[in-house]
Amino acid sequence: MPTVFTKIINREIPADILYEDADILAFRDIHPLAPVHILIIPKREIPSINDLKEGDALLIGRMIVVARDLATRLNISEKGYKLLFRVGRDGGQEVPHIHLHLIGGARLHEDIRPA
Ligand code: AMP
Repeated sequence: MPTVFTKIINREIPADILYEDADILAFRDIHPLAPVHILIIPKREIPSINDLKEGDALLIGRMIVVARDLATRLNISEKGYKLLFRVGRDGGQEVPHIHLHLIGGARLHEDIRPA
């Protein structure tokens, strides 16, 4: 079953896309936790960080650089932001397609306590 992110990549469902290249797509989260909440994803379907191969290191690094550039573009670099990968059930990952959250535009709580 394709995930919702594959459908966004294939333009089968709409998204507010802020960045795209041959390997990476970035779009606004549909349920933003803060004024800026963007998801940066690889176009290749990799379910989670647990599935990464050694050769994927450059791709993941590039996702972080894209997040950094978007933060600059959206004027949140100086005040700061969070970058978050959720992994699996305990990490709270809901969509099984790697995604990097870029969250900012407001002072954020540090709430990572056990549920
Ligand atoms: P995670 O809990 O880390 O797996 O995050 C999945 C994220 O995907 C959540 O923040 C959702 O709000 C977001 N999301 C789910 N469906 C969509 C969609 N159609 N467009 C944009 N973001 C979505």
